[in-house]
Amino acid sequence: MIHIILGTAHLKSTPGKCSPDKKFFEYLYSRKIVNKVYAKLKEKGYNVYIDVPEEDLKITSNQELAYRCKIVNNYCKKFGTANCIYVSIHVNAAGGDGKWHTATGWEAYTTRGVTKSDKLADCLYKAAEVNLKGKKIRKDLSDKDPDKEANFYVIKHSYCPAVLTENFF
Ligand SMILES: [Zn+2]
Repeated sequence: MIHIILGTAHLKSTPGKCSPDKKFFEYLYSRKIVNKVYAKLKEKGYNVYIDVPEEDLKITSNQELAYRCKIVNNYCKKFGTANCIYVSIHVNAAGGDGKWHTATGWEAYTTRGVTKSDKLADCLYKAAEVNLKGKKIRKDLSDKDPDKEANFYVIKHSYCPAVLTENFF
């Protein structure tokens, strides 16, 4: 039986992760999506967990990512790395430059090169094509698979297949 670990994005105290008008907070919206996905997967009978359900922790932004990986990797040790997957749910509302970005769509990242995470990303892209009709699905087809590649800390340092998704709304 597969164990699905859902990753929330950032903490309340993470700087710069909100819209310029301060009405949209990535940590908050991510947790809303994660909670919905969690409930759906539970309903379908999956083993599902959330890495950091708390909105804030008494740790710095630097410590946060290592803390998340430790949680994910503890599940891997407990249930077996081959039996776990990690899906980190981010919301790309602000581009990090303080301006409001109007792009809508969806994209998923794996670490660079061919890894077990590519298979997971493929599944997510297939599901996105079916379920996000009319929305932009962003792909990088230069390496013959649809996912984009970046060595984000949480997907690089998780033992199990791990994908980071950016969900526009
Ligand atoms: Zn983010």
